[in-house]
Amino acid sequence: MYKKPVIEKIDTFASKVPSSPYKTQRIKKEIDGVDVYDLVKEFGSPLFVFSERDIENKYLEFKEAFSSRYPDVEFWWSYKTNYLGAICKVFHKLGSKAEVVSEFEYQKARHLGIDGKDIIFNGPYKSKEALEVAVKEGAKIHIDHWDEINDLEEIADKLGVNIPVAIRCNMNTGVYPLWSRFGFNIDNNEAYDAIKRIYEGKKLYLTGLHTHIGTFMLSADAYRVAAKKLTELKNRVEEEFGFNIEYLDLGGGFASKNRLKGVYQPPEVIVPTPDDYAIAITDTIYATNKGNLPKLYLETGRALIDEAGYLLTSVFASKRLPDGKVSYILDAGVNLLYTSFWYNFDIFLSKKYDDISELSILNGPLCMNIDVIADNIYLPPLNRGDVVTIAPVGAYNVTQWMQFIRYRPAVVLIDKNSNPHLIREKEDLEDIIKREIIPEYLK
Ligand SMILES: *Cc1c(COP(=O)(O)O)cnc(C)c1O
Repeated sequence: MYKKPVIEKIDTFASKVPSSPYKTQRIKKEIDGVDVYDLVKEFGSPLFVFSERDIENKYLEFKEAFSSRYPDVEFWWSYKTNYLGAICKVFHKLGSKAEVVSEFEYQKARHLGIDGKDIIFNGPYKSKEALEVAVKEGAKIHIDHWDEINDLEEIADKLGVNIPVAIRCNMNTGVYPLWSRFGFNIDNNEAYDAIKRIYEGKKLYLTGLHTHIGTFMLSADAYRVAAKKLTELKNRVEEEFGFNIEYLDLGGGFASKNRLKGVYQPPEVIVPTPDDYAIAITDTIYATNKGNLPKLYLETGRALIDEAGYLLTSVFASKRLPDGKVSYILDAGVNLLYTSFWYNFDIFLSKKYDDISELSILNGPLCMNIDVIADNIYLPPLNRGDVVTIAPVGAYNVTQWMQFIRYRPAVVLIDKNSNPHLIREKEDLEDIIKREIIPEYLK
């Protein structure tokens, strides 16, 4: 198609930071042996696609890194990272238990057949009703704040039981911004005071210590600091109060191989390996622990699923913007890719194009200026209907996607024999209107 050439004023400032460092075409024709055009033909476009093979490989890599160094390691799947039923089932089949941060997620885990005892209940907002159910079902409750201690003590009185609990701790690990709003601070002794309070109340007893120091942590050393402070606290409260701390939970936060905006080195260079994280944590526990060696719990989310998720999207139209850049309008935008605000995704074409690449922008279908998936990237002229694959998108997008002006698309899981399975249907009008009520006088 002919596009009018333009003369462009050279911008001497670095305003055109490309969202992709690649000037060559990157091509992805299939996912686990299934052609992307076949997927779109069968399930529609846009389409989220998950690879069971990728999930399993990554999970086993992390499991091996930790289990080869530490005797008793358990993984608890972080539901909020991706709580599609089939995805949770894949993790549970691999041996992961469930980590939830809300009553809704708790119910979702129970609905998927997970026993209370196999659920860690985190989060700052646990209603008293939700807490009572979790206590009765034997879930592992990680206390976030002082009011929750009171709530649990009241539940202990009501049910006439002593309740095993863990507390969430926060601390300075040298990585900023500090995540200090969750749990009790170790550095200023608040965590110790909370445990003392639990001890003196005599209605709860401490069986675990938990921390989740942040997300996309590019420093394995931060986990060294966290493991040290948590293990020291364990030593101290075991000695002073006679608690038996069965487990230390180091949370999640391991980085995936995604490219953070504003970070110029590629993820292969800056993201620590599973071994790096495992060595930092397990070496520190060995070196610090007194008394019984605790179990090690991990709530890894993003690092296990991000690279197993792809979004197939189709070119709907193109136009040339006044500055000469080519804008492509795709059928998927920031409505489906919440994480696009942080990441510069990899953009894969579905075939090799012969024409030369031009400075381009990938826009989504929203009527909003911020609907940008990739900017200042070099792309050959794409045609209407061409499929573009965006990755990695497996973490947090299918939980934080918006329904704004469009229906959410279908989601497919490709099993290890390369068979695609529909795991979430695309939405339709009924999904949106079934909760709406038109008052009588407006009918
Ligand atoms: C979100 C969350 C996780 C998972 O975090 P990732 O950064 O995705 O690994 C684990 N634990 C808690 C308490 C969380 O809130």
